[in-house]
Amino acid sequence: MAEGARQVISISRSYMLPDCFPVPPRRSPPEIIQYKNVSITGVLARRCCRWWDARLFFVELSAVDKVQGKFHQASTGREGSSSSMIEEGIVMTTPTQKKSCIKRMSVGVLAALLSVGVAKAYAKNKEITGMQSIQFRKVVDLSHIISPTIPLWPNDPPVVFDVVASQEKDGYYLRRFSIGEHSATHMNAPNSFHPNANGIDTYKPESLVRPAVVIDIRAQAHDDADYVIGVQDIEKWEQAHGRIDQGSVVLFYTGWQALWNDPKRFINEDSKGPHFPGVGAATTKFLLEERQIAGVGIDTHGADPGQDTVYATNSQILAKDGIVLECLTNLDQLPAKGTTLVIGVLRLKEGSGSPVSVMAFTP
Ligand SMILES: [Zn+2]
Repeated sequence: MAEGARQVISISRSYMLPDCFPVPPRRSPPEIIQYKNVSITGVLARRCCRWWDARLFFVELSAVDKVQGKFHQASTGREGSSSSMIEEGIVMTTPTQKKSCIKRMSVGVLAALLSVGVAKAYAKNKEITGMQSIQFRKVVDLSHIISPTIPLWPNDPPVVFDVVASQEKDGYYLRRFSIGEHSATHMNAPNSFHPNANGIDTYKPESLVRPAVVIDIRAQAHDDADYVIGVQDIEKWEQAHGRIDQGSVVLFYTGWQALWNDPKRFINEDSKGPHFPGVGAATTKFLLEERQIAGVGIDTHGADPGQDTVYATNSQILAKDGIVLECLTNLDQLPAKGTTLVIGVLRLKEGSGSPVSVMAFTP
């Protein structure tokens, strides 16, 4: 995304979605919204979280250069509450308050347009409208130690360390290392699966601080190394722990982390390719569309199952510039919910991904 491509725009009128809950229909808006050089002609209403009180004040386009008739991603800011990511859409008002809400919205929006300072402040903090805090008792490192003996994806380059300076000769010790961009605990970038998409260097820092939930599928994975995580696994977790919050990273604990020091078993390859559990295409679609998650993480070498060849989970999440974390560890030390992840990427220019340091702040 080009620098300066982000702008805060205001929506000039609201429109109704009385039947938008629980699954909102797609509707076209009755208006064209103009702001600066951007013309948005097809805002679609989708996924209205808290539709009953949604009063939208700002929309920050996160991909103005990609806007062609609709938002790819927008974040909404509501007065007095935290903002939220909404894909392709803006929803507001309640059925009984339609008219007054529209009036109020128009006035509110006019005021908002005038208060450039507020808009600027919001633009600086996409997705965050107020002070945020991370509460924790413990910090868990979810990244493996990197060495030449870590498990590698078939045909990936080896991890190599070379000593280039020593204390005896040079007065200090220094190595250089080389590693594949998808080796060790790592995050994949959109350009790894989509031509001309964003590289790992483009993630906004606040997009890398995320609530996380942990779904334990060790039993299923133990019985079937090719287990495909299904929507039923999500539903079962939600029955016990409640609905997954919007913007979460969903971590899948398969038990594979325990095999890390045994690369053969970790990759588990035979003539048909690698065998390890991963997230099914329909499950990812459900999580993205019905739960508006930010991404997924897993302790295997792929968010997609080992036997998968189309990378449907990576493709879907990275089409939205989301988060895919692979080869995580220490997932056994996390509670089912309540964790905040801080993901440290190496900002490799136009990188297809990078080894990451993932810190989990747990209650
Ligand atoms: Zn990868």
